[in-house]
Amino acid sequence: MTTLNSAKLSVLRYLLHNDEELIIEFAQDQGIKNSLATIGVLNYLLADPENFSALSSAQKYHYATAIEPLVTDVPCDGMVGTLEDGSSSCRGDTFIDDDSLLRAFQLEDMRCQICVYDKESWYRNNR
Ligand SMILES: [Zn+2]
Repeated sequence: MTTLNSAKLSVLRYLLHNDEELIIEFAQDQGIKNSLATIGVLNYLLADPENFSALSSAQKYHYATAIEPLVTDVPCDGMVGTLEDGSSSCRGDTFIDDDSLLRAFQLEDMRCQICVYDKESWYRNNR
């Protein structure tokens, strides 16, 4: 469990303000019954990232279960989704890099920088 960098904090702030439902559903998917408490922990952290050190063990549970994983090792959808053999068609390291994460959530286009760039250059070269 680590503290969040500014790129990840920006993504969480965006989600909290624009897509709180996504956070709540994610928390519930992780088995959290009181997902409003997850939102509370997130608000507390976004108010001041230094608050991380003051989290109670119950709050840390929400953080480790439903907040950190939301913006950590987020899988890239790749160029064409999952390949027939089940492997990823991602041209990068199969995860969305922190710098691309905000764009990915905003555009609901869950791809890493490399896949986004490759697809755009493919369209440029094949028109
Ligand atoms: Zn990718």
